[in-house]
Amino acid sequence: MRLLLVEDEENLAHALKDVLTAAGHVIDVVYRGDDGWDLAQTVAYDLLILDWMLPGLSGIELCRKLRHAGKNTPVLMLTAKDLSLNKVQGLDAGADDYMIKPFDTAELLARVRALLRRPTSFQDQVVEASGVRLDLQTMTAYREGKTVALNRKEFQLLEYFLTHPGQVLTRDQIIERLWEIGEEPESNVVAAQVRLLRQKIDQGFSKALIHTVYGIGYRYGALGEP
Ligand code: CA
Repeated sequence: MRLLLVEDEENLAHALKDVLTAAGHVIDVVYRGDDGWDLAQTVAYDLLILDWMLPGLSGIELCRKLRHAGKNTPVLMLTAKDLSLNKVQGLDAGADDYMIKPFDTAELLARVRALLRRPTSFQDQVVEASGVRLDLQTMTAYREGKTVALNRKEFQLLEYFLTHPGQVLTRDQIIERLWEIGEEPESNVVAAQVRLLRQKIDQGFSKALIHTVYGIGYRYGALGEP
């Protein structure tokens, strides 16, 4: 999943980025509310984590602006402030959840998982399509009884495929999903990443699931499936 963290305490921002990256997510970090606003308008994030007190634009103002602009991306608000009043303000502004600093990173990951949960396709943190199961906690895939260990990029790519079965995903979409702002990859790196994933998911099986759509991108699923 692709996340945006807007947090002006740089040490905390870096620590959170490490934790969320280790959990398999792709994280962009900015330190100002107005920078967060710019990014949230141009990148398709799955979740926004916003600190309350920020230079440029506060987390609460940013959240309110996004909701007014029709964006319904889940928002987790972080605050060092006292509890009760802020909870009401945060939820009024359109935040989905909030955490009081200092907080435990395990708790943060649990909240993030809850906010990212897609009721139709995510059950017990497993996503499945065309006979491949992916455990989101362990980053392990299973196909026909075979266990497939994945590295972080392979996991992110497979998760993207499994949650968009049958759809053609363009190279640009894959890049936006898997690479952070500022680490834009070389032109052939998507093809290389797909090749690595294919070796793990398709090699040795009779049916290929990861298909190249020439000149456009890639499509996941058994041919003939809707
Ligand atoms: Ca702050």
